[in-house]
Amino acid sequence: MAARKTAVITGSTSGIGLAIAQALAAEGRNVVVNSFSDTTADHAMADAIAKQYGVKTAYIKADMSKPAECRALVAKAAETFGSVDILVNNAGIQHVAPVEEFPIEKWDAIIAINLSSAFHTIAAAIPLMKNAGGGRIVNIASAHGLVASPFKSAYVSAKHGIMGLTKTVALELAREKITCNAICPGYVLTPLVEAQIPDQMKAHQMDRETVIREVMLDKQPTKEFVTVEQIAAAAVFLCSDAAAQINGTHLSVDGGWTAA
Ligand code: NAD
Repeated sequence: MAARKTAVITGSTSGIGLAIAQALAAEGRNVVVNSFSDTTADHAMADAIAKQYGVKTAYIKADMSKPAECRALVAKAAETFGSVDILVNNAGIQHVAPVEEFPIEKWDAIIAINLSSAFHTIAAAIPLMKNAGGGRIVNIASAHGLVASPFKSAYVSAKHGIMGLTKTVALELAREKITCNAICPGYVLTPLVEAQIPDQMKAHQMDRETVIREVMLDKQPTKEFVTVEQIAAAAVFLCSDAAAQINGTHLSVDGGWTAA
């Protein structure tokens, strides 16, 4: 059994979050799978992880756009497993539009889910981690936490914000054996990226293949999508003992995008 035994991964029924839940379970950690949909498939996903890796899992519904539900997610996880040793803030959404046309409700939702949710889960997890004598917080930011792209004002703002939150939390908890770091993925072909292709086609007046080649992979010098397994491996490393002195920083997994 791994030393840090219980991990909560927000937005973990799909894409990067699901891969992180599976990778932490493969390490022998109990995992809390979260989404806001509470479907039979969501519960089945948590059950499948338990069966495959021989760990305990729980599906906990929480809408990460709602502060009280973010905090309740952490509290329920602690009730279920006795602790929250690893917190991965992964839930995120995207919307692509020029600033002057950006829908106000989309701006508010992106800031709430991609940034404020992490503030709430972290605030709820800190007392538990302090009591347990340590912990790991991993925030899934983005290359867009370091650089901007047009038509993504809310996303870029939220992701730059979570980089600031990561550093602040790291400084506040540095003496508590709790680390807080971010992972900055480049483009990973998940449902989130699939969903923005039509909007990018509209915004850039391009067809699908041209958007993938000239807007998305154009940014990545390797010209390849990052895989969810590569992001999960970075998260596993940041949660390991070897990463105890990595604090308040980020790990870019972006094919060289932000080296330019
Ligand atoms: P995804 O759409 O596959 O997964 C997003 C997850 O967030 C889903 O499980 C979804 O249910 C959950 N979610 C969305 N709104 C929620 C809410 N209100 N409450 C609870 N859960 C909610 O997308 P993904 O690509 O796996 O994205 C995961 C994270 O990685 C996001 O924070 C995203 O910004 C970040 N990221 C993704 C890429 C990429 O290229 N895919 C690149 C950089 C960063």
